[in-house]
Amino acid sequence: MYWEKDIETMPRDRIETLQSGLLRDTVRLAALSPFYGKKFRDAGIDPAGFDGLRSKEKLPFTTKDDLREHWPYGFLAVSRDELVRMHSSSGTTGRATVVFHTAHDIGQWTNLVARCMYMAGVRKGDVFQNIMTYGLFTGGLGFHYGAERIGALVIPAGAGNSKRQIQLMRDFDTTVIHIIPSYALHLYSFFEEMNLLPSRDTRVRIAFIGAEPHSERTRKKIEELYGFKAFNSYGLSEMNGPGVAFECPEQNGLHIWEDNFLAEIVDPDTLKPVADGSEGELVLTSLRRTGMPLLRYRTKDLTRIITGDCPCGRTHRRIERITGRTDDMLIIKGVNIFPIQIEKKLMEIPGVGNDFLIVLEREGYNDRMTVKVEVGQDFFDGDVLHLEKLRRRITEDLRSDILITPQVELMAPNSLPKTEGKAVRVVDNRKD
Ligand code: AMP
Ligand code: ZN
Repeated sequence: MYWEKDIETMPRDRIETLQSGLLRDTVRLAALSPFYGKKFRDAGIDPAGFDGLRSKEKLPFTTKDDLREHWPYGFLAVSRDELVRMHSSSGTTGRATVVFHTAHDIGQWTNLVARCMYMAGVRKGDVFQNIMTYGLFTGGLGFHYGAERIGALVIPAGAGNSKRQIQLMRDFDTTVIHIIPSYALHLYSFFEEMNLLPSRDTRVRIAFIGAEPHSERTRKKIEELYGFKAFNSYGLSEMNGPGVAFECPEQNGLHIWEDNFLAEIVDPDTLKPVADGSEGELVLTSLRRTGMPLLRYRTKDLTRIITGDCPCGRTHRRIERITGRTDDMLIIKGVNIFPIQIEKKLMEIPGVGNDFLIVLEREGYNDRMTVKVEVGQDFFDGDVLHLEKLRRRITEDLRSDILITPQVELMAPNSLPKTEGKAVRVVDNRKD
């Protein structure tokens, strides 16, 4: 059973007492690593005297640059022969960082993923097809282990090879999948090509979608196309991978597992905590990791705490779906824009297909933004006048939202380049 009721519905005061003790242990352990050992000495922090949660703001932040600068072993708190696994980030921004796990860490991570999957309704007897890249990326093995712990039959399909994915789903009666949202939209076109309807011709009833930002509208679109429930799964390799925060059946925010992670939301400029409900950068501390504990890790992901109790009864606080990363903000003609704002608008417009790409160029001192938008097959085959009307509507809707007028190019369905991993949303040709 992976409904850990005592933990998942623990009263808030008990969660905080638990966190305080775990934080004390983590600080003592972290002090053994070269990185934190020096940080603590420089900041005059005595790990043996550290008194828990109430002093959390005395602890140093940790950034991706710190991980890169102390690459690869500078964060180890145990000797290397205790390690059993290495993973790395997908390297969306710069050089990939690595995280090492002991057998204890893998066990904890596996439990967390099992807990998340169980919460969404996965049970022994389910057939789970993991449509994620295996290997260094955490989405493959992380979910694989969690699903096995529940007792589901796992098909380690890996990413890509779309027709084969559909074949596997049909041949082995897959009931649960794990897939990147942009790939789910792309995969649907293969169902169309094969004259199949996922809701009629497969038995998939639950999907886990994550690893990249996506709007509520995109989730709804995926649910409508496939006829299954899609749950948002959030994680990052620095905090194991998937299993950090996850949607419950209410599908209204993601519960952060606070018995394993200490979450803070800070203003990314001042690094001061923001009030509950206000947006800021998510900062996470691992509370049970032994091989490579991380303190106050700046995720760069923007979100907010959802205040109030969740009707599901779980007491671990919820975060809003991630609205972007501080480092994927585009500044165009001086205006700050997140790619997800564009995605959100596009997905509301009937006739828009399943993919888009933002291309930025510099002409003299001016930025030029082109948004390439795939249209739906019906529109594409229809009247050119309708296409022109659609193009104008997209231009106008985007302009009213982002306050600059983009060049909009309509594209044939499936004509934009696809990746097996996280979608590439922006091509910035402005840099020399
Ligand atoms: P990686 O270290 O390669 O696992 O990448 C982790 C990053 O992927 C996170 O910091 C987020 O920026 C992004 N990410 C993961 N899951 C989600 C999600 N459900 N929604 C939005 N972004 C996500
Ligand atoms: Zn809930």
